[in-house]
Amino acid sequence: MTTTDGQTGTPPDGGGAGGVRVRFAPSPTGSLHVGSARTALYNFLYARHHGGTMVLRIEDTDLKRSTRAHEAGLLRDLAWLGLRADEGPDVGGAYAPYRQSERGGLYEAAVGRLLADGWAYPCFCPQELLDERRQGQLARGLMPKYDRTCLALDPAAVRARLAAGEPAAIRFRVPAGDVTFDDLIHGPISFSSEVIGDFIIKRTDGGYSYNFAVVVDDAGMEITHVIRGEDHITNTARQMMLFAALGRPAPCYGHHSLILAPDGGKLSKRHGATSIGDFRKLGYLPAAMVNYLALLSWHPADEREKFSLTELVEEFDLGRVSRSPAIFDVKKLSWLNGLYIRELTPSQLSDLIAPYLAEAGIEPAPVQREVVAEAVQANLVVLSDAPRYASVFVDHFDLATCPGAESLHTPEAGVVFDLARGVFSAMPAEYLPPLEAKELLLRVVGAAKERGIKGRAVYHPLRVALTGREEGPELFYMVGGLGKGVILARLEAAAAFVAGQ
Ligand code: GLU
Repeated sequence: MTTTDGQTGTPPDGGGAGGVRVRFAPSPTGSLHVGSARTALYNFLYARHHGGTMVLRIEDTDLKRSTRAHEAGLLRDLAWLGLRADEGPDVGGAYAPYRQSERGGLYEAAVGRLLADGWAYPCFCPQELLDERRQGQLARGLMPKYDRTCLALDPAAVRARLAAGEPAAIRFRVPAGDVTFDDLIHGPISFSSEVIGDFIIKRTDGGYSYNFAVVVDDAGMEITHVIRGEDHITNTARQMMLFAALGRPAPCYGHHSLILAPDGGKLSKRHGATSIGDFRKLGYLPAAMVNYLALLSWHPADEREKFSLTELVEEFDLGRVSRSPAIFDVKKLSWLNGLYIRELTPSQLSDLIAPYLAEAGIEPAPVQREVVAEAVQANLVVLSDAPRYASVFVDHFDLATCPGAESLHTPEAGVVFDLARGVFSAMPAEYLPPLEAKELLLRVVGAAKERGIKGRAVYHPLRVALTGREEGPELFYMVGGLGKGVILARLEAAAAFVAGQ
């Protein structure tokens, strides 16, 4: 950075002796939004790609809105995504503490230093007066900014007023000149300090401003790269001035675009799920979430769309991050989620869908769980779809009122039911793995074929008899997962139904 005051700060060249250090700095005032999760992801990928360190810093200076419960939620969501930081309030580190609320001494020391070096000054102007002047500037067509009334005060008078206990804020004396930096995503960006008034670094209530605390922390934690949303670009100018005034090199900055809803507006609740917790509850998998968030602005070098976190670490490059706004497309996320669901083993899937099934009152027997999972796997877009497809394993029905029941009144259906009863009564266990169930079903099919009954004439009556529906999972899953007792009872009922009893 260069200012015409002659303050220079050379950004580190991508690591220096200590290597890349990035930070994710959420405020614990709510749950982890997909936009923040993507910021965390890009920082994580950048750190891992360069063999660096990711720091988690909790920006909890807004004491009214920050809570430990929100902080715990952020940590849980980051861990769920697989984005654990190397340093942070939970794991500690050499640059502790990692909560801004615990770093007041460091901010106070930095304020003292800026005051001593003439980079900051106390301001006694009351808010009403500032508002009045602002209105006046606006009325005269001027850009509102602090008019430096208190910079002109006599130092002895300032000391006397402070000693008398008059409340004062501390303002940063903004140097003249341009602030220029080479954004890692946007390229060169320049701000004229003309547009930046002397801003407050410490408020009259004793709190420190965001821009100031961030700089003290980024400097103190030796952050080399700041990757964050482009809503912070204007803050960057202020922050670089502070780095220079503190005699510290500023980090490299990269500002990614924001995530917008398909209607072009800010992504908000009215568009559906927006927080990582919402998506987790709906049954999106962390691998799909991470994959999708990466692709929101980052364009891989080839046509691939499916990337594991490890592959992303390998391939991620800020140079391929687009400057255009990212449009959140839940359909694409769902498509990816389906791909990841298809990759799960029956045991993994049955564990993941168990809570959704339980909530819907579906609690398969332990030996039945994996058959149910496999049976529904191909249909799931999200895990919360599971009850809709799995209910066929537990629903009771009265065959007489089922769709397709009338079509059972054929001579063939009766034969099929008798054959099936013969074969299934020899089932070696209550529930069978799908392959064994398939073998039994094929025996029924073979026996029917010998009697000239084939294809749909076998499968359709069996499906209706066993499930009370005309559609559903592959029939052998039903044979494996319904339970021998249920199967035989339903076949008996079906045989009686076609016999007109
Ligand atoms: N706490 C700030 C936020 O959540 C961090 C901004 C930054 O990365 O500097 O927006």
